[in-house]
Amino acid sequence: MTPLAAPARTIAVIEDERAIAAAVAARLRSEGYAVEIAADGPSGVELVERLRPDLVVLDLMLPGLDGLEVCRRIQRERAVPVLMLTARDSEDDLVVGLGVGADDYVTKPFSARELVARVHALLRRAERPYGAGRARARGAT
Ligand code: CA
Repeated sequence: MTPLAAPARTIAVIEDERAIAAAVAARLRSEGYAVEIAADGPSGVELVERLRPDLVVLDLMLPGLDGLEVCRRIQRERAVPVLMLTARDSEDDLVVGLGVGADDYVTKPFSARELVARVHALLRRAERPYGAGRARARGAT
């Protein structure tokens, strides 16, 4: 079974650094995903509400609303896998990020290959009943 045989999954990329957003979107599109980009926090929340994506790639440092607040708001609406992009190394930020509903993260600078691998993994996990995957991830820490 090849992943590309499935209908295109939709991914929202919320990132204010244009070069990173464009590179991430191009790579995900080349993997067969349908991708839309928002460049600040408020438009990111709107994009997720409108698009109802299968996964969200979310930058932590965003104008308008930061990534943690965006994550809170989009998770309030509907459980959706979130891969957070962070330039920070601080463990505190990470713990907070995962606490508000981010499922995984990559620290900038990250490789396109690493990003794609994590996106694939999150989508695979999301195919199982969502609560079960999440409960197990939380219980392990
Ligand atoms: Ca940023």
